[in-house]
Amino acid sequence: MGEITLKGYICERCKHKWVPREKQKPMVCPKCKSPYWDRKKRKVKNAT
Ligand SMILES: [Zn+2]
Repeated sequence: MGEITLKGYICERCKHKWVPREKQKPMVCPKCKSPYWDRKKRKVKNAT
């Protein structure tokens, strides 16, 4: 069928999906620039 599945990423913060050019994992989400785009929210202490 000539069909392929592109491997992409989804930002857990803003739900932005994208396919990276580089093979290595992107450092930040290209949309919201969060460095924690691949991490779901966990228990967050009131660190502020
Ligand atoms: Zn994002």
